[in-house]
Amino acid sequence: MVRVRFAPSPTGRLHIGSARTALFNWLYARAKKGSFILRIEDTDRERSKKEYLDQILESLKWLGFDWDELYFQSKRLDIYKEYAQKLLNEGKAYLEKPEILRFTQDTSPKDTEQSRSARVQKPEDKDKRREAIIFKVQPQKVKIKDLIHGEIEFDTSVIKDQVLIKSDGTATYNFACVVDDGLLGITHVIRGDDHISNTPKQILLYSALGFNTPQFAHIPLILGKDGSRLSKRTGATAISEYKALGYLSPALVNYLLLLGWSPGQNREIISITEAIKAFEIEDVNKTAAIFDLDKLNWINNHYIKESPTEELLDLLWPLLQKRYPQTERSAVSSVLKLYQGRINNLLDFLDWADFFFLDEIEINEEAKAKFLEHDLSKEFSLFIEGLDKLEVFNVENIERVFRDLVKELNITSRKLIHPIRVALTGKTIGPGLFDVIHLLGKERVKKRLKKWVREENK
Ligand code: GLU
Repeated sequence: MVRVRFAPSPTGRLHIGSARTALFNWLYARAKKGSFILRIEDTDRERSKKEYLDQILESLKWLGFDWDELYFQSKRLDIYKEYAQKLLNEGKAYLEKPEILRFTQDTSPKDTEQSRSARVQKPEDKDKRREAIIFKVQPQKVKIKDLIHGEIEFDTSVIKDQVLIKSDGTATYNFACVVDDGLLGITHVIRGDDHISNTPKQILLYSALGFNTPQFAHIPLILGKDGSRLSKRTGATAISEYKALGYLSPALVNYLLLLGWSPGQNREIISITEAIKAFEIEDVNKTAAIFDLDKLNWINNHYIKESPTEELLDLLWPLLQKRYPQTERSAVSSVLKLYQGRINNLLDFLDWADFFFLDEIEINEEAKAKFLEHDLSKEFSLFIEGLDKLEVFNVENIERVFRDLVKELNITSRKLIHPIRVALTGKTIGPGLFDVIHLLGKERVKKRLKKWVREENK
């Protein structure tokens, strides 16, 4: 029975890298019909924050990585102490006196004699200065068969004795991790490459505690396009931010999948249900994955194109209401449909389709200079006349009015199509012009075109 765990520390938000670790664990559990355990590593009381915890849980839920069991290390301190005591009793660990002088030496130069001695004498300081429990590291060679990297050999003679319980009474990461992995019956540890140096220390602890050593799969790091470690600049964005930008959860999960794994045959679009069937941890790449925002955008674009419009609108609606409070929901569907397949995220839609929602549109200066600089009073007013005559204001009829007009004026379509688009939308690109005219409605189209008509030049 496979039991895997994802063990985030709530000292920051869930980012691309940790979300991918969560995904590979979750996927492995689902693929093997095992359990996915969420363990919050919140022993560092100062750096752990409730807001980060909430964000991590929310992001995992949004991505669809449901967990079967949930544990908080902060509630398990007694257990860690009990196991440390056991190692002490068996002579595998020893006590180390805290440096009594530490409290007086660690003071900043600004401290006065008085504040220093007051601190040293505070009763809780005495409490804090309990003895640390240290694990004796026996020099030996340990070998693991990493499921991704193959055989790795470590020489523990270069490893110092390990602190298990610090003098402030809290457990160290390596110790709490091993006690929990052992007690929770974790069968596979799937985590980032950056933890490889912890693995030999943990292996010694599993065996000292009499636990089975799990199998390991160390996933290669994700690098930015420039080959450096993923940073804010190269895409280390929090999952909650992607959500706010209007990325779809299945698209982001699809993208995360490709960061180190591939369904084969150069396939890039794969649903999570298919991935569950095809995923094998051994197939994860040995080399670093490269985060590529263009690829993520391409995938999100695809998912937006394929989504039912009403579902997209559900996601978009809160954003839309915030930006354009006057909008009626029933008017948005057909506009959104025009943009599906053109936008990389839902926020793009709010920017690109602004002219549907605003009374006064903003005209791009460059576009204005290029397409509206010479007088089009005659052309625009004739077009308005043609539209006015229409009994049925539909795309087909609008197009016919336009085609007849360019024929009559003996000009190319391009001569008129771009200026009309800029006058109506403020932009040089967008969906088909006749669709745009149809959706804007006759009155708004007339009003926007009339702005460019000078009576004396008609
Ligand atoms: N809390 C550790 C981290 O966030 C967990 C590492 C592990 O999976 O063992 O990196």
